[in-house]
Amino acid sequence: MERLQKVLARAGVASRRKAEGLILEGKVKVNGSVVTELGTKVSNADRVEVEGVQVVKETFVYYLLYKPRGYISTVHDEKGRKTVLDLLPGVEERIFPVGRLDYDTSGVIIMTNDGDFSYTMTHPKFGIRKQYIAKVKGIPTREALKKLEHGIELEDGLTAPANVKMRSMDKKAQTALIEITISEGKNRQVRRMFDAIGCPVVKLRRESFANLTTIGLNAGEARELTTHEVKQLR
Ligand code: URA
Repeated sequence: MERLQKVLARAGVASRRKAEGLILEGKVKVNGSVVTELGTKVSNADRVEVEGVQVVKETFVYYLLYKPRGYISTVHDEKGRKTVLDLLPGVEERIFPVGRLDYDTSGVIIMTNDGDFSYTMTHPKFGIRKQYIAKVKGIPTREALKKLEHGIELEDGLTAPANVKMRSMDKKAQTALIEITISEGKNRQVRRMFDAIGCPVVKLRRESFANLTTIGLNAGEARELTTHEVKQLR
């Protein structure tokens, strides 16, 4: 069930504010009856009309995409670069990425047309965990990893506590693979955190977003989330 003005806005009838106006003016019918109550909730089964024209409601869709490097995570790019939308060519709904991954970052990204879902998944107050695997230049000391865990002062504030684990190191090449789990999503956060300890990221992959992983997908492939997965996350 969803508020009528929201259904109208999502269907592209009008902005939410204007949709409220249409309802108050008595121009909206639900199942044949005029509705002027702004709190009215409707389901997919309800027939909604605005000035006699039936509103085609867009249903919510949710995709898990394994983003490869070399794609921008917006729906349009002024520079004409490939976007994550190019990887889901058959989808008719107006989907957008939930949060961002850098052009050069690969891994899990969710695509949906459900704005509330996107908000819940990305706002730091909900603490959704994102795990990354970073290949970094240099071998961070134990103290440096502790700093990443406790919080690093970036120009836009202190980072929240993170889980950090050294997966492996290559002393000859002077690189390390580090697992880092964060629950915020500041711009280029992981890269900036590693820059701050003097070990810049050379490769970055998001291994999981909440409990969702790329298992079973190749880079560039997507699958729909199951109803159960969506329910668990909402
Ligand atoms: N942190 C980054 O630095 N880049 C990403 O793409 C995601 C998190």
